[in-house]
Amino acid sequence: FSLFLTAFEELDILGSGAFGTVVRCRNRADNREYAIKKVQIGSIKEYGVQKVVRETQILSGLNDECNIVRYHTGWFESRLNGKWEECSDGALTSNDKFPCLYIQMELCERSLEEILGEGKMKEKEYWGIFEKIANCLQHIHAKGFMHGDLSCRNVFFKENEVKIGDFGLARYLEEGGNIEEVHINVDTIDEPIISKPPEKEVSMKYDIYCAGVILLRMLSSTVEDEELDPYWTWVAEKTFPPTWEDDLNKFLSSLLHKDPAMRPSTSEMVSRVGIFVLSCHGQERKVHIVY
Ligand code: ATP
Ligand code: MG
Ligand code: MG
Repeated sequence: FSLFLTAFEELDILGSGAFGTVVRCRNRADNREYAIKKVQIGSIKEYGVQKVVRETQILSGLNDECNIVRYHTGWFESRLNGKWEECSDGALTSNDKFPCLYIQMELCERSLEEILGEGKMKEKEYWGIFEKIANCLQHIHAKGFMHGDLSCRNVFFKENEVKIGDFGLARYLEEGGNIEEVHINVDTIDEPIISKPPEKEVSMKYDIYCAGVILLRMLSSTVEDEELDPYWTWVAEKTFPPTWEDDLNKFLSSLLHKDPAMRPSTSEMVSRVGIFVLSCHGQERKVHIVY
């Protein structure tokens, strides 16, 4: 028996990452579409059940926040001797050969990465998006979690609403640990390595750096100057376009500071963002923000 095959019709593949594949599915019972992440677990013995269920546990604990990809349910299936066998997380043991974790989530329309590729948005709209990301991050941190993999590929949109997703590397901060352990198995596909913070320890400040990269990427996409270096050079060298205000340059430099202790806290970041949002509204009050 496979719950996945029984309950869902697989429509197409949305994308694959280091840990698994995300597919678009139709639920046969409610006729709605969902995104289901299939995580093939190589060896429970190696990872431990706790690490394997971390993503579902964290995502389900954040379901009250509207700017986070909604979680519906998660379950395990394993296929032994060619036959599907039911297994619950309690029943899962290190003897299970190749269990697969299914995570049913709301289906989002596109990612911030795709929106940046289209290049249609204005600076004001990007500030509006970043304000939502910052507020949402504050909520995640207030609950004691760090995201650990905040990037333009993991920020989604649904009906014009911002949705932070992919909690595959998230963790409860009290667990401590270091980033290398969290990033087990992840190959940073085509992203420049500079997009990740330089430190090894897990902390809220790790997410602040990643937020800084997102803001810089959004703002740099609005600059039309062929002579300028790509954004990752700006990240590395903290050299921003000459037309940018001093305040903005300082803010970006603080988010991207090499030393995590020198980066602002999440609430400091939120209040600074509020000021930038206000000032960009002030310049052109008549323009309505649509994204
Ligand atoms: P990546 O390295 O790209 O972050 P990953 O292994 O971390 O990959 P996910 O980010 O969870 O895996 O998902 C892989 C891809 O599936 C994403 O890049 C995205 O395009 C798509 N995707 C994930 N979740 C959703 C969703 N809820 N709705 C729509 N598409 C999604
Ligand atoms: Mg991802
Ligand atoms: Mg991931």
